[in-house]
Amino acid sequence: MKTRDYSRLLATLEEAYARHAPRSGALQQEALRFMVDGGSHTLRLIRPFPPRIVSAQGAWLQDEDGHRLLDFWQGHLANILGHNPPLITSVLANALAGGFGLQTGFADRLQVEVAEILCRQTGAERVRFTTSGTLATMYSIMLARAFTGRTWVLKVGGGWHGAQPWALKGIEFHRNDGQGFQQVESAGVPLAVTDKVIVTSFNDPEQLRDHFRQYGDRLACFILEPFLGVGGFVPASREYLHTARELTQQYGVVLILDEVIAGFRFRAGNAGALYGVQPDLATFGKVIGGGMPVAAVAGRAEIMNLVGRSGGTPVKFSGGTYSAHPASMLAAKTILNYLVAHEAEVYPRLADLGEKARQTLVSAFAEEGIYVHCSGHDSQVLPGSSMFMLHFPFDEKIPLRQPEDWFDPTRCDIALSHRVLELALLLEGVFMLHSHGGLSTAHTEEDLAFLGEACRRAARRIKPYL
Ligand code: PMP
Repeated sequence: MKTRDYSRLLATLEEAYARHAPRSGALQQEALRFMVDGGSHTLRLIRPFPPRIVSAQGAWLQDEDGHRLLDFWQGHLANILGHNPPLITSVLANALAGGFGLQTGFADRLQVEVAEILCRQTGAERVRFTTSGTLATMYSIMLARAFTGRTWVLKVGGGWHGAQPWALKGIEFHRNDGQGFQQVESAGVPLAVTDKVIVTSFNDPEQLRDHFRQYGDRLACFILEPFLGVGGFVPASREYLHTARELTQQYGVVLILDEVIAGFRFRAGNAGALYGVQPDLATFGKVIGGGMPVAAVAGRAEIMNLVGRSGGTPVKFSGGTYSAHPASMLAAKTILNYLVAHEAEVYPRLADLGEKARQTLVSAFAEEGIYVHCSGHDSQVLPGSSMFMLHFPFDEKIPLRQPEDWFDPTRCDIALSHRVLELALLLEGVFMLHSHGGLSTAHTEEDLAFLGEACRRAARRIKPYL
């Protein structure tokens, strides 16, 4: 296994960063007294400490130390119009001033309107709202299990569906113990659940056929993303998604498309439609909330109705103090209507910025003598991608197509992409976690020039250690 020693570089970067951001550093000490590792989401907790953000507008953040940071994290990729767009903030401010927004817990008109837009734009027949993508995928799997009367779940290696029992296997690649994508990633999860989760390779229709031959009649569902998200930012091939649809139909398995990232990111609706694939259930989150916590399961009435009163023991997709929260629904209605009305401008702009960002990143590192492979490209089926993920293979000739390739530490430099670069870029005024990110319509070409310059400077620091 190849290892490069970054200890000296990291020590230098950490020292420079501590001098650069003393207020965020002091807040980390305070945070450690009350919060585990100083925060509530591991990925956000850049080491040695994250910049503490005080405000955000469009593509830019401002931190406690007064630095402006060009942001490609954009609210976990939720903020497709950039941070705090006036379109949403003005509507929320007016509503709150008028006595509407925080009275969660009632039925209202807004929920109906948002559900109607979601059904119209995604081909779903029924929708139920919740507050996170994690809950949406969990409920969708419960629905599939109740509908089929089966217990097994098929997912993709590298597929992230949030931290819920059925999704906590096969997320990270474990080369050393030969487990690949077969490991359970969390303590505290019942074995009875994870034992019945089968992990299959993304974009590998042959392996998928094998898995269906072997487990098809025991499977409740196959859950996958049409555009693999944190598993590497790569679109499903047309053949793969169609094979998934055919096999699930043949074996009576519920097809769940997890569109928490892909939904409303490529068009004003679900990405599945671009493949001509209608799933049985789909999950949405991120973009649909306009920056507020909104997620949904949407799908066939016959399955969705299992959460209702009409018969038997309903699937307990209920509860949730903040489900269909009024301020969140207002933000959702506002962004969804905007995306539908401005589809012809928003998505080509995002696609153009995405392509330019990927080119900028690759050439900035190349100019400094560092080869980087950038995934996140669009495909013939998914036109125009606004996302990118950087991988640093030890050898340019190594083919990189799958999560199994780029998360293999013998092939790609994970320490560089996941640890070193984010700190080096922070010092240059760029916020990018684990070398991936997304564009918003608020980013500009000047921002991309800034990104290129920041990458060149970061690359110059890193190069001597490669
Ligand atoms: N599914 C996918 C594809 C995701 O990317 C995520 C979050 N990154 C989730 C589900 C979980 O969503 P949340 O973080 O809102 O719980």
